[in-house]
Amino acid sequence: MKKYLLPESGNYYKANLHCHSNISDGTLSPQELKKHYMAKGYSVLAYTDHDVFIAHPELADENFLPLHGYEVEITERDDEKDISFYLKKCCHLCLVALEPDNRKQVCWHREKYLFPNAIDYKDQVQFDEEEPDYEREYTPECINDMIKRGRENGFFVTWAHPAWSLEEHDQYIRYEGMNAMEICNGVSVLEGFQEYVPWVYDEMLRAGKSLYCVGADDNHSPDGIGQSWIVIKADRLEYRTITKALEAGHFYASHGPEIKDLWVEDGYLCVTTSDAEQISFQTAYRYTGLKKAEEGEVLNFAKFPLGEDYGYVRVSVKDHRGNYANSNAYAISDIL
Ligand SMILES: [Zn+2]
Ligand SMILES: [Zn+2]
Repeated sequence: MKKYLLPESGNYYKANLHCHSNISDGTLSPQELKKHYMAKGYSVLAYTDHDVFIAHPELADENFLPLHGYEVEITERDDEKDISFYLKKCCHLCLVALEPDNRKQVCWHREKYLFPNAIDYKDQVQFDEEEPDYEREYTPECINDMIKRGRENGFFVTWAHPAWSLEEHDQYIRYEGMNAMEICNGVSVLEGFQEYVPWVYDEMLRAGKSLYCVGADDNHSPDGIGQSWIVIKADRLEYRTITKALEAGHFYASHGPEIKDLWVEDGYLCVTTSDAEQISFQTAYRYTGLKKAEEGEVLNFAKFPLGEDYGYVRVSVKDHRGNYANSNAYAISDIL
């Protein structure tokens, strides 16, 4: 019997969970972003302007779903180290509201942290007036507290671009509770960063964390659009249906190939894909697998035997251009 890891039925929706408009430091308006993304076949776009939570429900139509979110950054402070921006470590988190009517920004500070354009939108931000100003510190404790508050207040929380942020293993291995991390950040890759980071995803998983992987653009201009994405499988293009699919991990990350189906059958993890050069299999331990296409041919299917002691499993698909798709990781105890 087949056990489907991506749902058996439903439609595929291409989505970007991280972008910037001219509300913070992007060049395009929210409406222009919609136009560009729809032209590239996207159905879902999370607006995640820096540090200011502004929703765009008016952009929704039957073929396009805007998700409401924002990105927070927690940066080493000047009073700790008087250093240039180019040397400062930071952690960025994208928060996407799970409910369409959630408008309250968490960890709000009435004065600090706003980027130039975002200052003009400050008065539109809704927050809990009873809460004191939230001071950020670049420590795992503060970052974990922000993740926790985000989750508790109904947000899907994604850890963004660890390479661009100059994050180090000793720091990030202590991050807890995020829903997902960016396995690829398209704009960082365009700028020359090693921001396709499957090994960081495995490090987090091997440390016992349960999290998904996403591809995202983080675009600030038209150039950054369509670099890296997720494909969500869900019944319909409706806000809560899509965010429930996010919570359930019904998606895969890509910057090239497609994962068409993913299932477990007779003790094997099986995957069908668009034309691939190779399909590989990773686990928590030294059990791995690789299937390569013959010279001049392509691969559209692979299967890998599962063992009870594998910890977790996931697959990566590489196309002839060297681009990858990655499934989420699945705990072996959930699928065998
Ligand atoms: Zn960022
Ligand atoms: Zn960003």
